[in-house]
Amino acid sequence: MSSAAPTNIAGQKHALPSYLNADNLGPWGIYLQQVDRVTPYLGSLARWVETLKRPKRALVVDVPIELDNGTIAHFEGYRVQHNLSRGPGKGGVRFHQDVTLSEVMALSAWMSVKNAAVNVPYGGAKGGIRVDPRTLSHAELERLTRRYTSEINIIIGPSKDIPAPDVNTNAQVMAWMMDTYSMNSGSTSTGVVTGKPISLGGSLGRHEATGRGVFVVGSEAARNIGLDIKGASVAVQGFGNVGAVAAKLFHEAGAKVVAVQDHRTTLFDPAGLDVAAMMEYAAHSGTIEGFRGEVLRTEQFWEVDCDILIPAALEGQITARNAPLIKARLVIEGANGPTTPEADDILRERNILVAPDVIANAGGVTVSYFEWVQDFSSFFWTEEEINQRLVRIMQEAFRAIWQVAQDNKVTLRTAAFIVACSRILQAREMRGLYP
Ligand code: GLU
Repeated sequence: MSSAAPTNIAGQKHALPSYLNADNLGPWGIYLQQVDRVTPYLGSLARWVETLKRPKRALVVDVPIELDNGTIAHFEGYRVQHNLSRGPGKGGVRFHQDVTLSEVMALSAWMSVKNAAVNVPYGGAKGGIRVDPRTLSHAELERLTRRYTSEINIIIGPSKDIPAPDVNTNAQVMAWMMDTYSMNSGSTSTGVVTGKPISLGGSLGRHEATGRGVFVVGSEAARNIGLDIKGASVAVQGFGNVGAVAAKLFHEAGAKVVAVQDHRTTLFDPAGLDVAAMMEYAAHSGTIEGFRGEVLRTEQFWEVDCDILIPAALEGQITARNAPLIKARLVIEGANGPTTPEADDILRERNILVAPDVIANAGGVTVSYFEWVQDFSSFFWTEEEINQRLVRIMQEAFRAIWQVAQDNKVTLRTAAFIVACSRILQAREMRGLYP
């Protein structure tokens, strides 16, 4: 357990994200504990488990840009390829002021597990820049994205490693990445990133895919514990691409969205918030702050009376401190790594079911896979076909994991790790050690 403040490569301390303190592990520490928990179930493949405990490759880059006021600013960027045994690296790029190498390592590892859990033919990767993009102009953001892409150009490519959107990145950022890579390589290469605009080889349904996957997995999990979505109350942390879409789909299925928290505020209405109006409001103001509803204190969010809790923001949110207060029967992890291992234990003891991130939020990368396939074949599918295939893959993956959990009397997280890590390590063993 390390309590040291993360530093940048020059050794300078920077502000600690709220979840990183002396009491806990940080995202990479959380991931390592999750691997330790699955190891006893891996049989002879446990011989290879060390492979999962270190990234295959990690690139740290300096990203200098000229700001609009003429000064030069330097940002630290990362691209980590955790495992490439099952295929090219795949995973998003995050722009956030708290991004660290350790965080990107954990996020890349969770991508390896996620991609194997839903059985898409990818390894795991992730990237990020430590920057608060809200402080940059549109032109500065474009320069930052292009310079970052040029710096990681040596390890990405349609058959090497395929970035995608994550926290604070979107289709426009992907378009700049695709263009930069294409300009550098001398030919238009749509398959180098996913989550692109539709006009540039993006896929229908990709924008909503992560939230839709959260809904599909959540519905399966709810059914298995006899919880009717119709009339169920839902609390959502995060109102971005994942949280807002999940809230909308639960609302459309007859659930009541009673609480939403974003980076600025926490809103509560026991009669149900107007999700559609809130989405419109957030699209204009960039936050739900000021929208109608009772304003709660930040910590009160975890105590809200609800049946379903959806953390869909950042990692390390459900901790030993707030897990005892949660009232929900079901937690669906839209975010990556929102629950610490200690909190996992508390939720399990309290008989609260956790649908873990590596399956619950895998809808995004699943449709990313469809996008990549469509780009390669230059033949595009209808939204209906995409959603049908997405639902089928998510349901099948969830049902298989549910069965493994029952058979081994383990949590869904450990079951998902059993399925995924076995796939990764089987591939590792078949390929063998080179030389
Ligand atoms: N950033 C998303 C995730 O965490 C999507 C990654 C992708 O589509 O490659 O799963």
